[in-house]
Amino acid sequence: MNFADSEILVSILKDQYDTTQDYAQADLILVNTCSIRDHAEQRVFNRLKEFAALKKKRPGMKLGLVGCMAERLKEQLLDSDLDIDLVVGPDAYRSLPRLLSQVEAGQKGIDTLLSEDETYEDILPVRLGTNRISAFISIMRGCQNYCSYCVVPYTRGRERSRDAGTIVDEARSLVDQGYKEVTLLGQNVNSYKDGDVNFAELMRRVASVSPSLRIRFSTSHPKDLSDELIAVMAAYPNICRSIHLPVQSGSSVMLKKMNRKYDREWYLDRIRAIRKAMPDCGISTDIIAGFCGETEEDHKQTLSLMEEVGYDFAFMFKYSERPGTFASRHYPDDIPEEVKLRRLNEIINLQQHLSHESNKRDVGKRFEILVEGESKKNKAQYFGRNSQNKVVVFDNPVLPDGSFRYQVGDYAVAEVTGCTPATLLGRTL
Ligand code: SAH
Ligand code: SF4
Repeated sequence: MNFADSEILVSILKDQYDTTQDYAQADLILVNTCSIRDHAEQRVFNRLKEFAALKKKRPGMKLGLVGCMAERLKEQLLDSDLDIDLVVGPDAYRSLPRLLSQVEAGQKGIDTLLSEDETYEDILPVRLGTNRISAFISIMRGCQNYCSYCVVPYTRGRERSRDAGTIVDEARSLVDQGYKEVTLLGQNVNSYKDGDVNFAELMRRVASVSPSLRIRFSTSHPKDLSDELIAVMAAYPNICRSIHLPVQSGSSVMLKKMNRKYDREWYLDRIRAIRKAMPDCGISTDIIAGFCGETEEDHKQTLSLMEEVGYDFAFMFKYSERPGTFASRHYPDDIPEEVKLRRLNEIINLQQHLSHESNKRDVGKRFEILVEGESKKNKAQYFGRNSQNKVVVFDNPVLPDGSFRYQVGDYAVAEVTGCTPATLLGRTL
């Protein structure tokens, strides 16, 4: 999400600034930030210290903090000794040129107003991705699900959806530029709504732009994963067979306390519905270890749910209390650090085993892959991704004229010949 927002920021500033890969040369550094866990914020503070030191050597340089930390900490950031010039929240990026002229005039610039309707839908993002074949399209902003642990509703404001026509136009323009894959982004894409157009209908429209454009989306909330969406996914071969469905916990007691609005049974029913319509669908998740009051039994239920689903991949976190959230006001953060860490490690170890098992099941199968680039380890090898979002590494055949058979952006068919826990190894056919 922040990557996509940075593309909007660059677009808003493109008449005034070029981008550079070397921050020591920069006249303006904007740090786009995440507040989701304390660890994310601590990393930003460390980075800001580096930039503040650089600023001492380059007095003309301006330093801005944008995104969720700007929204959460507001003036406090200007009062700190980090020498920040600008603080701009996620809905205020259009104010940047005005705020920058204030900074030029020797003042500080701050705008952290949240909006009920800002979607930046008219701003054409400047693509910052390096492969030129995959792009993000932001389809909605904000979140009002108020999961009790989560800071997002406070830093990103009310949920709002972007006009469907502008999304389809953006996908079409990406196809014209040679892009092969788009990922539709939102905190909860399933609750997308523009008049009569719900998320399933939006997917139909984007998938119809071109059969050679792959469509992905992130993230969907289990409570809103509709049968209609599953049916649309199954009906369009260019909608990728991959769903990221964050479960957070396998215990219905914890899920209630987290205010997730589904229980273990509901979640498992959604998994069954996905598997019935698309037996080959990749399924991944997010898990939080050590939420307030989590017992050993709750934790075991998370492990058993992971086994029952057999996730292909997971993002796994220790619970981090976020100031201002319902949990921080009502539930003590009472799981000792070493217990959180031990539970997290058990979750990570189990997932590593499940990922490996999932990869082993793919050995011998054939997949269409979209070639993304050279393998980092071996220049004669390239890698691509299959529809299930797994990376497949393969030897790129050399043609008589010395060039490689497959270029970035090509589709290839690969047979899986082996695997590691993280990667499939394949042979192109
Ligand atoms: N909107 C998405 C999630 C966005 S945040 C959804 O609801 O699925 C990404 C992930 O960060 C969450 O799924 C959750 O697992 C994790 N997360 C959020 N708040 C957290 C917290 N306070 N501590 C630890 N992990 C957290
Ligand atoms: Fe946070 Fe829940 Fe909204 Fe996801 S759905 S962003 S976890 S409040």
